[in-house]
Amino acid sequence: HAAGRPSSDDFLPIAILHTEQAHSARLYDYILGGKDNYTADRVAAHKLLRAWPGVKDSMLANRAFMHRVATFLAQEAGIRQFLDIGTGIPISPNLHEVVQRTAPDARIVYVDNDPIVLTHARALLTGAPQGRTAYVEADMRRPETILTAPAFTDTLDLSEPIALTVIAMVHLIADEDAFPLVDRLVQALPSGSYLALSTSTADTAPEMHEVARLSREEGIDLQLRSKEKVEEFFQGMELVEPGVQLINRWRPGTEVVEADIAMYGGVARKP
Ligand code: SAH
Repeated sequence: HAAGRPSSDDFLPIAILHTEQAHSARLYDYILGGKDNYTADRVAAHKLLRAWPGVKDSMLANRAFMHRVATFLAQEAGIRQFLDIGTGIPISPNLHEVVQRTAPDARIVYVDNDPIVLTHARALLTGAPQGRTAYVEADMRRPETILTAPAFTDTLDLSEPIALTVIAMVHLIADEDAFPLVDRLVQALPSGSYLALSTSTADTAPEMHEVARLSREEGIDLQLRSKEKVEEFFQGMELVEPGVQLINRWRPGTEVVEADIAMYGGVARKP
Protein backbone atom coordinates (compact mmCIF):
# COMPACT_ATOMS: atom_id res chain seq x y z
CA HIS A 1 0.00 0.00 0.00
CA ALA A 2 1.37 3.39 -0.96
CA ALA A 3 1.24 5.91 1.85
CA GLY A 4 -1.05 8.86 1.69
CA ARG A 5 -4.71 9.52 1.41
CA PRO A 6 -6.52 6.17 0.99
CA SER A 7 -8.39 5.55 -2.24
CA SER A 8 -11.22 3.05 -2.59
CA ASP A 9 -8.58 0.48 -3.61
CA ASP A 10 -7.19 0.66 -0.11
CA PHE A 11 -10.26 -0.78 1.54
CA LEU A 12 -9.21 -4.37 1.78
CA PRO A 13 -11.38 -7.46 1.61
CA ILE A 14 -12.09 -9.04 4.99
CA ALA A 15 -10.05 -12.14 4.07
CA ILE A 16 -6.81 -10.19 4.49
CA LEU A 17 -7.74 -9.37 8.06
CA HIS A 18 -7.06 -12.94 9.32
CA THR A 19 -10.21 -12.94 11.39
CA GLU A 20 -9.54 -16.47 12.69
CA GLN A 21 -6.69 -15.17 14.84
CA ALA A 22 -6.79 -12.56 17.60
CA HIS A 23 -5.15 -9.24 16.70
CA SER A 24 -4.06 -6.65 19.24
CA ALA A 25 -5.91 -3.74 17.59
CA ARG A 26 -9.24 -5.62 17.54
CA LEU A 27 -8.81 -7.11 21.02
CA TYR A 28 -8.18 -3.62 22.34
CA ASP A 29 -11.20 -2.33 20.42
CA TYR A 30 -13.44 -5.05 21.90
CA ILE A 31 -12.38 -4.42 25.51
CA LEU A 32 -12.99 -0.71 25.01
CA GLY A 33 -16.53 -1.43 23.76
CA GLY A 34 -15.93 -1.14 20.01
CA LYS A 35 -17.57 -3.14 17.24
CA ASP A 36 -14.60 -3.76 14.97
CA ASN A 37 -13.63 -7.21 16.19
CA TYR A 38 -14.26 -10.88 15.48
CA THR A 39 -14.94 -14.05 17.47
CA ALA A 40 -11.24 -14.87 17.95
CA ASP A 41 -10.62 -11.39 19.35
CA ARG A 42 -13.58 -11.62 21.72
CA VAL A 43 -12.62 -15.10 22.97
CA ALA A 44 -9.06 -13.90 23.62
CA ALA A 45 -10.34 -10.75 25.35
CA HIS A 46 -12.50 -12.75 27.75
CA LYS A 47 -9.58 -15.05 28.57
CA LEU A 48 -7.47 -12.04 29.53
CA LEU A 49 -10.26 -10.35 31.47
CA ARG A 50 -10.88 -13.56 33.44
CA ALA A 51 -7.19 -13.68 34.36
CA TRP A 52 -7.31 -10.04 35.48
CA PRO A 53 -10.35 -7.75 35.11
CA GLY A 54 -8.02 -4.77 35.69
CA VAL A 55 -7.00 -5.08 32.01
CA LYS A 56 -10.06 -3.01 31.11
CA ASP A 57 -9.33 -0.27 33.67
CA SER A 58 -5.77 -0.10 32.39
CA MET A 59 -6.95 0.33 28.81
CA LEU A 60 -9.46 3.02 29.79
CA ALA A 61 -6.81 4.80 31.86
CA ASN A 62 -4.50 4.58 28.85
CA ARG A 63 -6.97 6.46 26.63
CA ALA A 64 -7.32 9.13 29.33
CA PHE A 65 -3.51 9.31 29.58
CA MET A 66 -3.28 9.80 25.81
CA HIS A 67 -5.79 12.66 26.01
CA ARG A 68 -3.85 14.42 28.79
CA VAL A 69 -0.55 13.90 27.00
CA ALA A 70 -1.94 15.28 23.73
CA THR A 71 -3.29 18.33 25.55
CA PHE A 72 0.03 18.86 27.35
CA LEU A 73 2.00 18.60 24.11
CA ALA A 74 -0.24 21.01 22.23
CA GLN A 75 -0.90 23.51 25.04
CA GLU A 76 2.14 23.56 27.28
CA ALA A 77 4.85 22.30 24.95
CA GLY A 78 3.47 24.17 21.93
CA ILE A 79 3.91 21.18 19.59
CA ARG A 80 2.15 21.39 16.23
CA GLN A 81 3.35 18.17 14.56
CA PHE A 82 2.63 14.62 15.71
CA LEU A 83 3.78 11.18 14.62
CA ASP A 84 1.56 8.54 16.25
CA ILE A 85 2.74 4.95 15.87
CA GLY A 86 0.39 2.09 16.75
CA THR A 87 -2.70 4.26 16.33
CA GLY A 88 -5.25 1.50 16.73
CA ILE A 89 -8.84 1.34 15.55
CA PRO A 90 -10.16 4.90 15.85
CA ILE A 91 -12.02 5.76 19.06
CA SER A 92 -13.21 9.33 19.24
CA PRO A 93 -11.62 11.48 20.43
CA ASN A 94 -8.50 10.38 18.60
CA LEU A 95 -5.18 12.17 19.00
CA HIS A 96 -5.84 14.73 16.25
CA GLU A 97 -9.20 15.68 17.74
CA VAL A 98 -7.65 16.33 21.16
CA VAL A 99 -4.70 18.24 19.73
CA GLN A 100 -6.75 20.31 17.29
CA ARG A 101 -8.99 21.57 20.12
CA THR A 102 -5.94 23.57 21.17
CA ALA A 103 -4.18 23.88 17.84
CA PRO A 104 -6.48 23.60 14.80
CA ASP A 105 -3.41 24.01 12.57
CA ALA A 106 -1.69 20.90 14.01
CA ARG A 107 -0.56 18.18 11.60
CA ILE A 108 -0.74 14.51 12.54
CA VAL A 109 0.64 11.41 10.84
CA TYR A 110 -0.90 8.15 12.02
CA VAL A 111 0.89 4.81 11.57
CA ASP A 112 -0.30 1.26 12.14
CA ASN A 113 0.61 -2.10 10.62
CA ASP A 114 -2.76 -3.80 11.04
CA PRO A 115 -4.86 -3.69 7.85
CA ILE A 116 -8.04 -3.25 9.90
CA VAL A 117 -6.83 0.17 10.99
CA LEU A 118 -6.35 1.11 7.34
CA THR A 119 -10.01 0.27 6.68
CA HIS A 120 -10.82 3.03 9.20
CA ALA A 121 -8.26 5.51 7.95
CA ARG A 122 -10.99 7.88 6.74
CA ALA A 123 -12.02 8.41 10.37
CA LEU A 124 -8.44 9.42 11.10
CA LEU A 125 -8.20 11.75 8.12
CA THR A 126 -10.86 14.18 9.24
CA GLY A 127 -9.96 17.12 11.38
CA ALA A 128 -9.67 20.85 11.33
CA PRO A 129 -9.33 22.35 7.83
CA GLN A 130 -6.38 24.49 8.98
CA GLY A 131 -4.48 21.36 10.00
CA ARG A 132 -3.72 18.09 8.28
CA THR A 133 -3.85 14.39 9.07
CA ALA A 134 -2.32 11.54 7.10
CA TYR A 135 -2.13 7.79 7.44
CA VAL A 136 0.75 5.42 6.74
CA GLU A 137 0.39 1.67 6.82
CA ALA A 138 3.82 0.62 8.06
CA ASP A 139 5.54 -1.52 10.63
CA MET A 140 7.46 0.20 13.42
CA ARG A 141 10.01 -2.59 13.19
CA ARG A 142 11.00 -1.01 9.87
CA PRO A 143 11.33 2.65 10.88
CA GLU A 144 12.79 3.70 7.52
CA THR A 145 9.50 2.81 5.83
CA ILE A 146 7.81 5.36 8.10
CA LEU A 147 10.47 8.06 7.76
CA THR A 148 10.53 7.85 3.96
CA ALA A 149 6.76 7.45 3.41
CA PRO A 150 5.43 10.34 1.27
CA ALA A 151 2.56 10.83 3.76
CA PHE A 152 5.20 11.45 6.44
CA THR A 153 7.59 13.63 4.43
CA ASP A 154 4.75 15.65 2.83
CA THR A 155 2.89 16.26 6.10
CA LEU A 156 5.61 16.90 8.69
CA ASP A 157 8.41 19.43 8.55
CA LEU A 158 11.59 17.94 10.03
CA SER A 159 13.02 21.37 10.82
CA GLU A 160 10.28 21.94 13.45
CA PRO A 161 9.70 19.91 16.64
CA ILE A 162 7.59 16.76 16.32
CA ALA A 163 5.97 14.73 19.09
CA LEU A 164 6.43 11.00 18.62
CA THR A 165 3.59 9.23 20.43
CA VAL A 166 3.88 5.48 20.94
CA ILE A 167 0.93 4.70 23.17
CA ALA A 168 0.16 1.17 24.41
CA MET A 169 2.31 -0.15 21.61
CA VAL A 170 5.89 -1.10 22.60
CA HIS A 171 4.54 -3.88 24.82
CA LEU A 172 4.02 -5.66 21.50
CA ILE A 173 7.73 -5.41 20.64
CA ALA A 174 10.54 -7.35 22.36
CA ASP A 175 13.11 -5.40 24.38
CA GLU A 176 16.09 -6.00 22.16
CA ASP A 177 14.13 -4.40 19.31
CA ALA A 178 11.99 -1.84 21.11
CA PHE A 179 14.81 0.32 22.55
CA PRO A 180 16.79 0.74 19.31
CA LEU A 181 13.59 1.26 17.30
CA VAL A 182 12.31 4.07 19.50
CA ASP A 183 15.82 5.52 19.56
CA ARG A 184 16.07 5.41 15.75
CA LEU A 185 12.83 7.37 15.43
CA VAL A 186 13.80 9.92 18.09
CA GLN A 187 17.18 10.41 16.34
CA ALA A 188 15.32 11.39 13.18
CA LEU A 189 13.50 14.23 14.97
CA PRO A 190 14.89 17.72 15.55
CA SER A 191 15.87 19.18 18.91
CA GLY A 192 12.84 20.30 20.92
CA SER A 193 10.85 17.25 19.82
CA TYR A 194 9.05 15.02 22.33
CA LEU A 195 8.58 11.33 22.98
CA ALA A 196 5.40 10.16 24.73
CA LEU A 197 5.09 6.49 25.50
CA SER A 198 2.98 4.09 27.57
CA THR A 199 3.47 0.37 28.04
CA SER A 200 2.40 -2.57 30.22
CA THR A 201 3.88 -3.71 33.53
CA ALA A 202 3.29 -6.39 36.16
CA ASP A 203 4.77 -4.20 38.95
CA THR A 204 1.31 -3.29 40.25
CA ALA A 205 -0.50 -6.49 39.27
CA PRO A 206 1.27 -9.88 39.26
CA GLU A 207 -1.81 -11.18 37.42
CA MET A 208 -0.35 -9.52 34.34
CA HIS A 209 2.12 -12.42 34.05
CA GLU A 210 -0.87 -14.69 33.45
CA VAL A 211 -2.37 -12.13 31.06
CA ALA A 212 0.92 -12.14 29.11
CA ARG A 213 1.04 -15.95 29.06
CA LEU A 214 -2.53 -16.15 27.74
CA SER A 215 -1.82 -13.43 25.18
CA ARG A 216 1.14 -15.44 23.93
CA GLU A 217 -1.17 -18.47 23.53
CA GLU A 218 -3.30 -16.23 21.30
CA GLY A 219 -0.29 -15.22 19.24
CA ILE A 220 0.15 -11.79 20.85
CA ASP A 221 3.56 -11.52 22.47
CA LEU A 222 2.93 -9.10 25.34
CA GLN A 223 6.05 -7.67 27.01
CA LEU A 224 5.91 -6.53 30.63
CA ARG A 225 8.43 -3.97 31.84
CA SER A 226 9.57 -2.59 35.16
CA LYS A 227 9.57 1.16 35.77
CA GLU A 228 13.37 1.23 35.27
CA LYS A 229 13.00 -0.49 31.89
CA VAL A 230 10.36 2.01 30.83
CA GLU A 231 12.66 4.86 31.86
CA GLU A 232 15.29 3.47 29.49
CA PHE A 233 13.11 4.49 26.54
CA PHE A 234 13.71 8.12 27.51
CA GLN A 235 17.49 7.90 27.91
CA GLY A 236 19.26 11.03 26.72
CA MET A 237 16.01 13.02 26.92
CA GLU A 238 14.59 15.39 29.54
CA LEU A 239 11.62 13.74 31.25
CA VAL A 240 8.90 16.26 31.99
CA GLU A 241 7.34 16.18 35.47
CA PRO A 242 6.28 13.84 37.03
CA GLY A 243 8.58 11.48 35.08
CA VAL A 244 7.62 7.90 34.32
CA GLN A 245 4.54 7.09 36.40
CA LEU A 246 1.60 4.75 36.39
CA ILE A 247 -0.49 6.30 33.64
CA ASN A 248 -3.33 7.31 35.99
CA ARG A 249 -0.79 9.25 38.09
CA TRP A 250 0.69 11.20 35.20
CA ARG A 251 -0.73 14.74 35.60
CA PRO A 252 -4.10 13.33 36.68
CA GLY A 253 -6.16 16.51 36.96
CA THR A 254 -9.44 15.90 38.75
CA GLU A 255 -10.20 12.36 37.57
CA VAL A 256 -7.75 10.40 39.69
CA VAL A 257 -8.38 6.74 38.90
CA GLU A 258 -7.56 4.77 42.02
CA ALA A 259 -7.82 1.34 40.43
CA ASP A 260 -4.67 -0.76 40.03
CA ILE A 261 -3.34 0.22 36.69
CA ALA A 262 -0.78 -1.99 34.97
CA MET A 263 0.79 0.53 32.63
CA TYR A 264 3.54 3.11 32.92
CA GLY A 265 3.80 6.23 30.85
CA GLY A 266 5.96 9.27 30.45
CA VAL A 267 6.80 12.23 28.26
CA ALA A 268 10.25 13.64 27.53
CA ARG A 269 11.81 16.42 25.47
CA LYS A 270 14.70 15.86 23.12
CA PRO A 271 17.42 18.40 24.03
N1 SAH B 1 -2.32 3.76 20.52
C1 SAH B 1 -3.70 3.31 20.64
C2 SAH B 1 -3.88 1.83 20.25
C3 SAH B 1 -3.07 0.80 21.03
S1 SAH B 1 -3.34 -0.87 20.48
C4 SAH B 1 -4.18 3.57 22.04
O1 SAH B 1 -3.35 3.70 22.94
O2 SAH B 1 -5.38 3.65 22.27
C5 SAH B 1 -1.76 -1.18 19.68
C6 SAH B 1 -1.75 -0.86 18.20
O3 SAH B 1 -0.40 -1.02 17.73
C7 SAH B 1 -2.61 -1.80 17.36
O4 SAH B 1 -3.44 -1.04 16.53
C8 SAH B 1 -1.59 -2.60 16.54
O5 SAH B 1 -2.08 -2.93 15.25
C9 SAH B 1 -0.43 -1.64 16.45
N2 SAH B 1 0.86 -2.30 16.21
C10 SAH B 1 1.32 -3.43 16.79
N3 SAH B 1 2.55 -3.72 16.34
C11 SAH B 1 2.88 -2.75 15.45
C12 SAH B 1 4.04 -2.51 14.65
N4 SAH B 1 5.09 -3.31 14.69
N5 SAH B 1 4.04 -1.40 13.86
C13 SAH B 1 2.96 -0.56 13.82
N6 SAH B 1 1.85 -0.75 14.57
C14 SAH B 1 1.80 -1.82 15.37
